[in-house]
Amino acid sequence: MTNPQRFDHPVNVTRPIVPPLADYAAMLEGVWQHRVLTNDGVLLRELERRLSERLDAPHIALFSSGTVALQIAIAALGLVGEVITPAFTFPATPHALSWAGVSPVFADIDPVRLTIDPDAVERAITPRTTAILGVHVYGIPCDVDALAAVAARHDLRIVYDGAHCFDTRIVQAPIGGFGDATMLSFHATKLFHCAEGGALIVRDEAMLRRVKLLRNFGIADAQTVLVPGINAKMNELEAAMGLLVLDRVADEHAAREAVTATYRRRFAGIPGLRMPAALPDVSDSHQYAVLLVDDSEAGLSRDDLHEGLKSFNVFARPYFYPLCSEAPHYRGLPSAARANLPVSFRVSRQVLCLPYYGELGVAGAERVADIVVHLLSRGRR
Ligand SMILES: *Cc1c(COP(=O)(O)O)cnc(C)c1O
Repeated sequence: MTNPQRFDHPVNVTRPIVPPLADYAAMLEGVWQHRVLTNDGVLLRELERRLSERLDAPHIALFSSGTVALQIAIAALGLVGEVITPAFTFPATPHALSWAGVSPVFADIDPVRLTIDPDAVERAITPRTTAILGVHVYGIPCDVDALAAVAARHDLRIVYDGAHCFDTRIVQAPIGGFGDATMLSFHATKLFHCAEGGALIVRDEAMLRRVKLLRNFGIADAQTVLVPGINAKMNELEAAMGLLVLDRVADEHAAREAVTATYRRRFAGIPGLRMPAALPDVSDSHQYAVLLVDDSEAGLSRDDLHEGLKSFNVFARPYFYPLCSEAPHYRGLPSAARANLPVSFRVSRQVLCLPYYGELGVAGAERVADIVVHLLSRGRR
């Protein structure tokens, strides 16, 4: 086989959906007329209404980021003491706990789902534990039934970091319907985005009122400030982006579906390469194309593959490496010990998120796959 061609432009792990610039300008015309740029504006309300319908989420509120949405969920539920969470996640997950003065306690992940292991959660519970903060990593849902059972046995709250799953469903039930609250991130790197933004899907009207109060300084009306809230409001420019991106999600799903199928076909049967299997009854979140590289069989380490791809102008990302528990501010925690997180350690050294966006197309995915296969065959020699 001839050596594959280097891409002449950088191919990154993702590429955000953007609407035509003229559509964005037209969407902002009303904003220019009213001069209401933020504070529960018309477009924000419209986006909340459309997302509520689209996601089957009767109780949804939007925020300026997913991280601050998570912080508000933690505050609204009054979480204190210790909260059990995975180390195999983006740093925002444990950081949201730290900012609330809550101690993260790391629990290991399940080797198949790559999400927090309910048995490990149960072993980590102490008298100070108040909640479980699960992460639907890569949009693969946590074992929500097993976690609900653990929470019920120990009277714990459950919050989900659903940053990777926009409109995922489990047996037709929307992902936001589990636990006390689910955070979604609408950052530009996420499938559905507002450039920056996030959401909380909560279980009832009372909690929805509370999180909306917290996002606007705790101000109930001109004379009444009820709680020490914060500024976590999404503005009209972001909501306008969201409304236009929302119209393009279905096409993006279809285009990413073709990319996923290409990668799966090309990597099937190659020793040492694995893509996490789709779970039965779970819809694909279309957020990442994840490759697990077992160097003893592949003949090449994840890091060598990552570096090798760069020389072809392909910029994959080893999400999530290093583990959150390896960061200086967490590594002293007893739960951060390597012996407590064997699966997380192994998986974090194997994962590589490949370029994954609709515009890559089947042809682009074939080229990336050619390069991966070429690097592996060279590694084996
Ligand atoms: C993106 C992401 C976040 C942070 O969301 P922001 O909207 O960027 O604040 C949190 N957790 C996970 C798992 C993420 O991937």
